[in-house]
Amino acid sequence: MASGYRNGTTKGALKVDRPLSMNSNVKTSSIKSKSAQSPYNAPAIRRSGQAPISGSAGPVKDDSVVSGRVRVAVRLRPRNAEELVADADFADCVELQPELKRLKLRKNNWDSDTYEFDEVLTEFASQKRVYEVVAKPVVESVLDGYNGTVMAYGQTGTGKTFTLGRLGEEDTAYRGIMVRSMEDILANISPETDSVSVSYLQLYMETIQDLLDPANDNISIVEDPKTGDVSLPGATLVEVRDQQSFVELLRFGEAHRFAANTKLNTESSRSHAILMVHVKRSIKGRESSILSENGNTSHLVKSFKPSLVRKGKLVVVDLAGSERIDKSGSEGHTLEEAKSINLSLSALGKCINALAENSAHVPVRDSKLTRLLRDSFGGTARTSLVVTIGPSPRHRGETASTIMFGQRAMKVENMVKIKEEFDYKGLARRLDIQLDKLISEHERQQKAFEDEIERITIDAQHRISEAEKSYADALEKERLKYQRDYMESIKNLEEQWAIDQKKHCNDRIGSGPKDGCLDKTCNREGSSASISEEVAEVKKALENEICLRKAAEEEVNNLKSQLVQWKRSEAAGNAEIIKLRKMLEDEAHQKVKLEEEITILRSQLLQLSFEAEETRRSLDRGGSGKFLNGLGSLMSQVRHPHLKDPGNGPKASIAKLFEQVGLQKILSLLESEDADVRIHAVKVVANLAAEEANQEKIVEAGGLTSLLMLLRSSEDEMICRVAAGAIANLAMSETNQELIMAQGGISLLSMTAADAEDPQTLRMVAGAIANLCGNDKLQTKLRGEGGIKALLGMVRCGHPDVLAQVARGIANFAKCESRASTQGSKTGRSFLIDDGALPWIVQNANNEASPIRRHIELALCHLAQHEVNAKDMISGGALWELVRISRDCSREDIRNLAQRTLTSSPTFQAEMRRLRIEF
Ligand code: ADP
Ligand code: MG
Repeated sequence: MASGYRNGTTKGALKVDRPLSMNSNVKTSSIKSKSAQSPYNAPAIRRSGQAPISGSAGPVKDDSVVSGRVRVAVRLRPRNAEELVADADFADCVELQPELKRLKLRKNNWDSDTYEFDEVLTEFASQKRVYEVVAKPVVESVLDGYNGTVMAYGQTGTGKTFTLGRLGEEDTAYRGIMVRSMEDILANISPETDSVSVSYLQLYMETIQDLLDPANDNISIVEDPKTGDVSLPGATLVEVRDQQSFVELLRFGEAHRFAANTKLNTESSRSHAILMVHVKRSIKGRESSILSENGNTSHLVKSFKPSLVRKGKLVVVDLAGSERIDKSGSEGHTLEEAKSINLSLSALGKCINALAENSAHVPVRDSKLTRLLRDSFGGTARTSLVVTIGPSPRHRGETASTIMFGQRAMKVENMVKIKEEFDYKGLARRLDIQLDKLISEHERQQKAFEDEIERITIDAQHRISEAEKSYADALEKERLKYQRDYMESIKNLEEQWAIDQKKHCNDRIGSGPKDGCLDKTCNREGSSASISEEVAEVKKALENEICLRKAAEEEVNNLKSQLVQWKRSEAAGNAEIIKLRKMLEDEAHQKVKLEEEITILRSQLLQLSFEAEETRRSLDRGGSGKFLNGLGSLMSQVRHPHLKDPGNGPKASIAKLFEQVGLQKILSLLESEDADVRIHAVKVVANLAAEEANQEKIVEAGGLTSLLMLLRSSEDEMICRVAAGAIANLAMSETNQELIMAQGGISLLSMTAADAEDPQTLRMVAGAIANLCGNDKLQTKLRGEGGIKALLGMVRCGHPDVLAQVARGIANFAKCESRASTQGSKTGRSFLIDDGALPWIVQNANNEASPIRRHIELALCHLAQHEVNAKDMISGGALWELVRISRDCSREDIRNLAQRTLTSSPTFQAEMRRLRIEF
């Protein structure tokens, strides 16, 4: 804007770089350097002495923290009937210049102050436009996982409720910001994966009342000590599925507000109405599939990531009338009421002043309203404020103060932060389903494989036996044929021979007596011819025989080669069987691996269901179970989010896991290569160790040794913490205490204590040592191995939980030692005094935390029972504490013990006489 437009005549006006716009879409806002932009695509206000705000605009997904100034719009109410008459002759006290986003507040007829706002809404501005410029950008941010606040501030009757809470049932054009916001939210979520739930409250006289459950009229604010997030676990939370049920809820809340106000003899303008809308959306596409594409199951565990959920919270606040700040105390308000109306609104004003001035101290804790709105001003939410004013010159003072409030709020800078977390519950559900699928698929494959092997084996056997049979048949047939042929040829030859023989004889008889010489010649000739004939014939027969024999030989060869072939195919069949056998072995191997993966998955699943259960419990503790009584049938269509509690979650799961996986397997996972698996496994073991029934089994299976090994070898503090916790649980039985000591437990725990930073780790270690301190037999050894020194070393952390465990350890030790001294097995001064514990004991004897105080009081009484300790105790200042305990201790038994001890010790008696302590 023009540099001439400065503070000379414009009180409280701000210097801006260019006109501000509130209605641009968050998602489309772009990053520009130089004039750094706020999340609503408007440039940041530059304040003197402050560097320009840098950073990106809009909820950029990976850049989860951006700066964002509180956006302020001013809305002027049209003149009402009374003003039309009464102020007819007067001009309005303000003049609006919406295109310049300026407002002029008339001082008198000739002078006015000019102020600039992010948006200036005239008396003609429609509800739709007001929603779009004031609330829509906030709603969009909430859908993207940010917290958001929309608030109305102004004098009673200027239109706060009109702007925010109007239901618009008579005319939808009148619908206010609450209704329109829900409409936008419901249109942008998917009912299968996302959820919306609301609480509706009234803050009156520093008391929070549940507008959705009339009986619930004193809800407390809970602050997370770590994150500083505030929540109202006692408030009814109703899941909203459709617009109609939401409008009904608002109407119900409004009716109750009216009733409550009537009962308290007040009106809504004196209380603050607060609507909280929780939007939970899951982010898709960020979850990798359970099996990698090649089906390699070894990636299975690691690739499983829980999906992200974004949790945005929209808070819509219809504030009490701002005139209450000035007028409270007057006009018949009760003193109490005036104080608390003053308290919440004026505390808000103070906080905004402090923030606007960048002051070091912001008095957030001064009122319930400022505690509730801690995130809205100077926090991580996107905040939009609409200040409402009336036109009447008679209320010029109120109007001016409202405008100044808005101007200061414009200077408040928030650091807008996305709220994302992993959906472990959902993951656990999906893992469960996937696990069942995997197991049944595996079984199916196994069965199919076995069937196939059986089929192939039967088939091969069948083929082999058929081949053998047909070969034997063919051989037999051939043999018979050959035999037959052979016999036939022999027979033929014999017949032939017989014929020849006969013929030869006949020839010789016929030619004998007639002509001798001729006969003789003839005969000789005739006989030689027949012989040669005979020979030729025999030769022929022989050739024939040879041919036949050759054919037979060929046939035999043929059969032989056939036989070889059959043998070969049989061998091939055997090779196939061997191959299948190998495949079977591979499959079995794969199965073993798969089972291991399943074991890991199961342990992970258990751990997840534990975490989910824990989360659920902590949610449940906040509890919204009152809703059903309250709303009854009116809201029967609205589902209560936590009604379906099976109630036997983790214990049943443990028993199931125990059965299914087996302790040995769980313990073997403690040595896994994979750090994630190790962490899960140690958590599972710790959970098991928390159940007394499991402890003996765990120790028997070597679990205690494995846990101690983890303390020795692991550098991961989380593992050490969980392992120490499990050891602390196991260290409750005497047998286990001895085992722990025998395995060097004290030096391992001392080592962990020396390295750890995290109070929770120290608490576990101190708890374990404290248990060991209570064992009479182990006193000397425990002290000799530095147990007391290790305990004392942990007080450096200062966390009350750790100190309580240290105090318990010291009390246990002192008790055992006192017993040993009484029995005569211990002589001389207490080891506790020797190891330098006395100063800390004296220092904390009156600690404000009762668990610490009680243990130390007991320890002092035990120490004081033995005269050998009296001198040191007197010089260390313990006598004063004993006297105090004997007088003031809230526990009668300890008080009596201290009294008895003091009266029975001559040394203490003498000192008390010397100091003139009356006793
Ligand atoms: P507040 O909540 O600030 O006390 P209300 O919202 O109850 O004020 O408004 C007071 C009266 O003025 C109501 O009758 C309301 O309908 C009317 N009113 C307020 N703002 C407008 C507006 N912009 N247009 C028309 N009527 C309005
Ligand atoms: Mg109102």
